[in-house]
Amino acid sequence: MSDQSIMAAPILILPERSHAIASDLRATLGVDKVKDDYSTLTAYAVDASIYRMMPKAVVLVESEEDITATVRYAVERGIPLTPRAAGTNLTGSAIGAGIILDVSRLNRVLELNREERWARVQPGIVLAELNKQLARDGLLFGPDPSSGDMCKLGGMLANNSSGPHTLRYGSVKDNVEALRVCLQSGDWLDARAYGFDDPVCADLLKTHRPLRDLQSLIQENAPLIEQKRPAVSKNSCGYNLFGLVDGLARGRFDLPKLFVGSEGTLGLFSEATIKLVEKPQATLTALIHFHRLEDVGDAVPKLLELRPSALEVMDANTLNLIGRAKHGIPADAAATLLIELDAEVSQTDLRAQAERMTEISRRYRLTSDPVIAFDPEQRDQLWKARKALYPTLYRFDSRKKPINFVDDVVVPADRISELIRYLGEFFAGQRVPVAIFGHIGNGNAHIIPLLDVNDQGDFKKMVQGYHEIHQTVLGRFGGSICGEHGDGRVRAEYVKTMFGQDLYNLFVRVKQSFDPSGVLNPGIKISDRPFTDHIDYERLSKPCATCAKCNAVCPVYDVFQSEDMSSRGWFEIVTDKNYSYLNSKRVVEACLNCKSCRTACPAGVDVSQLILDRRAEHPNPTAGAIFYYHAQTARFGRFLKFLARYQSLWDRPLMRRLIDHLTKPFMRGLAETARLSPQLVLPRLAQRHLRDRYPELIPQAKREPRSPVAYFHGCAANYFDDGVGDAVIAVLRKHGVEPDLPPQRCSGTPIETYGHRALVKEGARVNLASMAGYKKVVTGCASCTLMLKDYPTLFAGEPEQAAAQALAKRVTHISEFVAQSSVKPTMASQQSTKCKVAYHSSCHLRAAGVTKEPGAILAGLPGVEYVEMPDADRCAGGAGTYLVKDFETSQRIVERKRRAVEQSGAEVVATSCPACMIQLRTGLQGAAEVKHVAQLLQEAYEAADR
Ligand SMILES: Cc1cc2nc3c(=O)[nH]c(=O)nc-3n(C[C@H](O)[C@H](O)[C@H](O)COP(=O)(O)OP(=O)(O)OC[C@H]3O[C@@H](n4cnc5c(N)ncnc54)[C@H](O)[C@@H]3O)c2cc1C
Ligand code: SF4
Ligand code: SF4
Repeated sequence: MSDQSIMAAPILILPERSHAIASDLRATLGVDKVKDDYSTLTAYAVDASIYRMMPKAVVLVESEEDITATVRYAVERGIPLTPRAAGTNLTGSAIGAGIILDVSRLNRVLELNREERWARVQPGIVLAELNKQLARDGLLFGPDPSSGDMCKLGGMLANNSSGPHTLRYGSVKDNVEALRVCLQSGDWLDARAYGFDDPVCADLLKTHRPLRDLQSLIQENAPLIEQKRPAVSKNSCGYNLFGLVDGLARGRFDLPKLFVGSEGTLGLFSEATIKLVEKPQATLTALIHFHRLEDVGDAVPKLLELRPSALEVMDANTLNLIGRAKHGIPADAAATLLIELDAEVSQTDLRAQAERMTEISRRYRLTSDPVIAFDPEQRDQLWKARKALYPTLYRFDSRKKPINFVDDVVVPADRISELIRYLGEFFAGQRVPVAIFGHIGNGNAHIIPLLDVNDQGDFKKMVQGYHEIHQTVLGRFGGSICGEHGDGRVRAEYVKTMFGQDLYNLFVRVKQSFDPSGVLNPGIKISDRPFTDHIDYERLSKPCATCAKCNAVCPVYDVFQSEDMSSRGWFEIVTDKNYSYLNSKRVVEACLNCKSCRTACPAGVDVSQLILDRRAEHPNPTAGAIFYYHAQTARFGRFLKFLARYQSLWDRPLMRRLIDHLTKPFMRGLAETARLSPQLVLPRLAQRHLRDRYPELIPQAKREPRSPVAYFHGCAANYFDDGVGDAVIAVLRKHGVEPDLPPQRCSGTPIETYGHRALVKEGARVNLASMAGYKKVVTGCASCTLMLKDYPTLFAGEPEQAAAQALAKRVTHISEFVAQSSVKPTMASQQSTKCKVAYHSSCHLRAAGVTKEPGAILAGLPGVEYVEMPDADRCAGGAGTYLVKDFETSQRIVERKRRAVEQSGAEVVATSCPACMIQLRTGLQGAAEVKHVAQLLQEAYEAADR
């Protein structure tokens, strides 16, 4: 039977029935788990590949029963079913035209055996999160794709992923003991390496026909499979029948070997038992810059003698494209190697290793001495550029994008220089810029040409390159077309060429046996369709790489685990040609404007800004009324003082419940979810506002500034009695500065989140004029800091832009001010025992580029034991007014922070933002005291005065 006739069998149901599909599934699974609205389908139409396919429905499974029901339904109706985890694959394997089954909500570690070093884990867990949990026991899951911050175990299993540390730990297939697999029949299989004489194996063979087929297939064809085994160190192309033949030789039916790397085409995983390794005691990372590419190929085998855990290469073009100066890479480096060496026991032998490494490197012409880092933070810095390479290439050109179509070839490691040389010549001939980097220790090269696929000429070059390069890798180098990324849609066309017709026919038989109806991820791995089908031409002209790095930090995605509630999904939705506020209001209004996505995005995309732009097209009328009143500072101030006077009366549990109830209709004008929850811990409103308490600091009207420094206190420090404003002033005074409190309006952050840009600009103009004469404008609020620094964007192309740029340069958060100050006031501790203090890093301060100073200040305080808190950089969920707009979600977000605080053992959580303080006090429920960094400084200075 030919492969064509085998694959032609099933006719899958498509379009017309889309609504019926979702409603059928809802009837079985419940409304919360099934989505088919415009926003959801748009968000799920992409993964990190060059493709796009609109699904008909998305199912967010929460149990094995949900998976079974969905599989049975899809098979019964002949609807394509695509499993999906984080959607970071580069091959188009997590998108499909039917049902997307998202496993992200199955994200727990179910069991951990420290002694035997294994864990039972669900497929929706993010690799970084898994390793964070394992690190508590000194353990690690070895395979480490560079996408580890965002990719999930399910996708890693299905793609047989690996990464820089494959050299030491192997690929996923080498690290899996067992899998729970839902077969197309809806039956569950515990896939392990069973002995053929094991009665359990006999039972399984009796129960599952596909297993019987598989057993005879490998027994009958072992010599052919053996003969076609790729002769390189790693391969993820085709089905891993090689692993099964290896098992056969050991008398084992090694089932995980088949399913790992099967890309959702043979079954769906609900959990995996994975092998773990000890976390190395210490590690060194080094960059070696070579003058000549030829030397790299020569140096690799010698460096491999040091048994590095990682050995990575970046070619000259890659270094140019990512910007040499930015990453401290010498202008004359022809290639850079990144090497990592682990110490199992102590740091001493690592230093000796470093010397040997330097000695080997010096045999070649280097452009500078190797850069060696032992400290985790510096090592992270060296890895940073390498890990974000692919999305960073999106910054290079607005039309030419990095296109993954020959991205994952493997050749013998000692021929990598020859490969790079060949590729350099090939792309030079095409006049196409290309980045070549990858796992040189394994001979695995990632080749990313930059092309405008909407240009006919570039499109032809892509197709030509696809065939020529793959053919050369197979013919001249005896390599593999796929080391770790999977075949997906992009390489399916070439699997037959890679292995030949006979072995390909066996793959087809395996597929047909496990998936006779053809519903499991059709078009992936086994397909005759050209790789150019379903290319997303529209998206490839946009600035987003769809890499999902932003999803990894998006607090809303963290809570909902659904792409329609995620930063990457929102980019897709708000830039889609069919976008309208009406069809997407639910999701457009769900963003916190925390800006974590902007800080994380390697491609320089600011999703939060795109969302704000969309909101500005539909300003919220209720918020407008509130903010217009708020802008009348004198009247608004009087109203708040009135509320302050009676706070002890109305801020009681019963009254707060009543207020919540009575204000609900009004609050609904802000958002469906908005309310004044009685659980919201309000700070005390000030009866005398900050400006009333420091009349001496208020500059006289129409006079020159008294001081070179203005304090931009913002709304919270003025209206609340939270101690922040007093602390900032006290700290400035200790540093010899008597600040001015010039007239000021709200910086604009909360106003902009409700779409009232004109009002933001009105306030910003007041602030620009008022802050104009000062050398420094000090803030104590993260959001004000960022907003003032962002005024140039607000006034882009407008007359105020120059003034805005001048102000942005002078804005300084109090923690930066103290760090830069030459005055070093004496400090002392208030108490005799040390107090454990952790830092919650406010998202807006990070986005403003202030990251190190607050922690450094805290670490230097007497009487303070500064503790690193897990997830310190994650949003706490307050985001100014978000805890009013959607209190329930904000509390789900802060839950993670509460666990982190508890784990850190901190008695005090310090932060840099009054708004974060409100959220932390509400969410921590007394688990720790909450203070501003300035307050802790003030205490230390005052203790010294006593
Ligand atoms: C910037 C960047 C860097 C990368 N670096 C690397 C790298 O160094 N090494 C590497 O190997 N890859 C790398 N990748 C590719 C990708 O991140 C990995 O392949 C990753 O393991 C995919 O995981 P995921 O959770 O995103 O899976 P998805 O993309 O969601 O899915 C991948 C495949 O798994 C299937 N699948 C998902 N869950 C299940 C399940 N429960 N049961 C059955 N099938 C399932 C899907 O159907 C699909 O076929 C990189 C990607 C990016 C964007
Ligand atoms: S916005 Fe940036 S981080 Fe997010 S998916 Fe796009 S490129 Fe990646
Ligand atoms: S601003 Fe925050 S909530 Fe909004 S998309 Fe970015 S990360 Fe997500």
